[in-house]
Amino acid sequence: MAARIFITRKMEEQVVAPLREKFDVRMWDSESEKAPRDVLLREVVEADALWSVTADSIDQEVLMAAPKLKIVSNMAVGYNNIDLEVAKERGIIVTNTPDVLTNTTADLAFGLLIATARRLMEAEDTLRKGQWTSWSPMGYTGMDVGGAKLGIIGMGRIGEAVARRAKGFDMRVLYHNRSRKPEAEAAYGFEYAELDALLKEVDFVVILAPLTPETKGMIGERELGLMKKTAVLINVARGGIVDETALYHALKEGQIWAAGLDVFEKEPVPLDNPLLTLPNVTVLPHIGSATIKTRLGMMELSAQAILDTLEGREPKNRIV
Ligand code: NAP
Repeated sequence: MAARIFITRKMEEQVVAPLREKFDVRMWDSESEKAPRDVLLREVVEADALWSVTADSIDQEVLMAAPKLKIVSNMAVGYNNIDLEVAKERGIIVTNTPDVLTNTTADLAFGLLIATARRLMEAEDTLRKGQWTSWSPMGYTGMDVGGAKLGIIGMGRIGEAVARRAKGFDMRVLYHNRSRKPEAEAAYGFEYAELDALLKEVDFVVILAPLTPETKGMIGERELGLMKKTAVLINVARGGIVDETALYHALKEGQIWAAGLDVFEKEPVPLDNPLLTLPNVTVLPHIGSATIKTRLGMMELSAQAILDTLEGREPKNRIV
């Protein structure tokens, strides 16, 4: 009997078709709605491979319900949605899709930074509402990006790509990681800083660390309190790294100047989230890697990891 694959979202047929030729592929029939929990729990019972996305919680309950499962192929670089300990215990391979999305996500991070600093969404919104009365000397004024100081928390693949873009804007780049990156420092002049020192010094903070027990709540009331009143915070990594209640108060009370968020503690972000009431917050629906080429590339990597595993080869981008 052919091995069974369950895909939790409707993927592009051109990528799924080669899997269908060899395996028994079952795929959730919606691109925009996630497979309900009961469907996921039912489907994994017979699945040899699971193709998941970042919105799926592949926790202990799911992994324990899947006696035949050999691989979870997660279509994302982050894997905070998967219980790696349980996967490891049960000998289930977990893979992700790094590199292919690095430049795309860095472009979005930099775009969100500019949009937030220059109040682009707010300005467009007033124009569309017919509230653009006249050119105004101090109307829509924001913060300069060119020549400003940028601080990157989580200077990995995407963080470095953002930092390289910043060089083209004559920005001085500070970064904070658990480990230093001497090659990047030597090649581009990026400067290492401890977290508190970075927060105190820079004009823009961009978060690009993974969500882990260590980074959860890493930017809270104390950390926001260290930032300049003119500073802008950008989170393109994962919700949960920034304490949203503390961020709301910091923005409302003018402790920091603005924030740009592509990710939230709860996604889709509930419309009653107080952050959405603030004019100095620019929000996006988790679109960091959303270009046609990159999403197809992520699909190809996800499909290939399943193909390799089910045919007995070592898959690329293995996490456990
Ligand atoms: P990466 O290459 O693994 O980089 C992550 C960096 O974070 C590493 O340099 C790591 O350095 C640092 N880090 C880890 N733990 C840290 C801690 N406790 N304190 C400070 N720094 C820490 O990953 P990537 O490919 O750049 O992706 C980064 C993240 O972006 C992903 O995990 C994902 O959640 C997010 N992402 C979001 C989108 C989106 O659509 N919004 C798209 C792609 C990725 P050390 O190990 O030296 O600390």
